[in-house]
Amino acid sequence: MDQANVLIVGGGVIGCAIAEALSRRWQDAFLVEQYAKFGMATSTRNSGVIHAGIYYPKDSLKARHCVNGNRLTKEFCAKHNVPCRTTGKLVVAKEASEEQELLDLMKKGEGNGVEGLRIVDPAGIRAIEPHVKGHAALLVPSTGICSAEDLVHALARIAEEQGASLVNHAKAVSLEPVNDAVRVRVRIGDEEQCKTETIEARCVINAAGLYSDEVAQLLGPRPWKIYPVRGEYCEIRGRRAELIHGLVYPLPHHDGLSLGLHLAKTLWGTVLVGPTAGYVEGKDNYERGRMTIPEFVRDAKTMLPELEESDLQLGYTGLRPKLVPPGGQGIADFVIEADKEVPRVIQLVGIESPGLTAAPAIAKHVFELVEEILH
Ligand SMILES: Cc1cc2nc3c(=O)[nH]c(=O)nc-3n(C[C@H](O)[C@H](O)[C@H](O)COP(=O)(O)OP(=O)(O)OC[C@H]3O[C@@H](n4cnc5c(N)ncnc54)[C@H](O)[C@@H]3O)c2cc1C
Repeated sequence: MDQANVLIVGGGVIGCAIAEALSRRWQDAFLVEQYAKFGMATSTRNSGVIHAGIYYPKDSLKARHCVNGNRLTKEFCAKHNVPCRTTGKLVVAKEASEEQELLDLMKKGEGNGVEGLRIVDPAGIRAIEPHVKGHAALLVPSTGICSAEDLVHALARIAEEQGASLVNHAKAVSLEPVNDAVRVRVRIGDEEQCKTETIEARCVINAAGLYSDEVAQLLGPRPWKIYPVRGEYCEIRGRRAELIHGLVYPLPHHDGLSLGLHLAKTLWGTVLVGPTAGYVEGKDNYERGRMTIPEFVRDAKTMLPELEESDLQLGYTGLRPKLVPPGGQGIADFVIEADKEVPRVIQLVGIESPGLTAAPAIAKHVFELVEEILH
């Protein structure tokens, strides 16, 4: 039986960022990822936006970790040659009746410590995005965009260079608390040809994304349930991608479901249109019953009137690990805590947006929790 100080379940951006942070101190850190590659689930099926932190309730973990994560992610990307650009973004009010919401958003952002926010008028919008229509917009200068795939790979590579063992095709199937450790059974290989190994870890971190509720429940009943909310994208390629220069968002959904269908110039010159937001059955339901191109155009045209159906191609989709059930309201905060019954297990549940941005700040937070367990 292998022994380790720390075992991380899940090799998305959160698990890899935690592995990178922890392996500086505990070189025998272990990470197990059920899929063939790291970051194949939600971490590379997103907009790649490095959010500023304007949307989240003051003092929430989302607000704190997003604002810090914005800085830390940009620093990490610059240091390790991960493609990344600070583009700024516009949050557009379509009509006068939305102006108060824009001001409220600005106030919330300032309360969270986001700097440089200002309101621009239609001429100001046109100066930044000549093809975008709006009554007013909130300019958020610190928003950026990065290559999520390169970010995950860089985090994983550095963790390995620091001594961590990151294993793919390895699914944690049971957790059993023993004296001063937790025994983790890991199924290695695919369904037909697999072997089971046991690792005894002094601290276990659940960073299993969409499956974090199920991994938590390997210890017994726990209060969380993850509801997958699908986000679908279209893409504008070629010359028509020049319609958008940076990031253009509507005001966020009132029910807290998503930030709204936005337009995002990617680092490779295309424009992402999306993501949509709808609850789906099944944590692997990426494609069934997708929204059509005419429906995308209808939504996006309010900000970009020149958009035509022929400009769009269907793109990828991603699943948000939501804690709020269908019909529920509001924003649930990230859960990042030592398990109440087995405190040497750290639970990370409901790490939806801005999880990509927040990853290095979340990793610092987890580092502090692990220090308390392993001191
Ligand atoms: C449509 C969409 C758009 C988004 N846009 C943005 C954005 O622009 N900016 C931003 O900051 N955030 C964004 N997000 C959120 C961001 O993508 C997530 O918060 C982040 O990727 C979560 O990372 P994770 O590592 O927790 O999850 P995941 O990437 O899902 O990683 C969890 C991993 O755990 C593995 N796993 C699960 N169970 C087990 C097990 N038993 N054993 C071993 N491995 C297991 C899974 O295979 C998976 O690889 C978006 C999300 C979506 C869906």
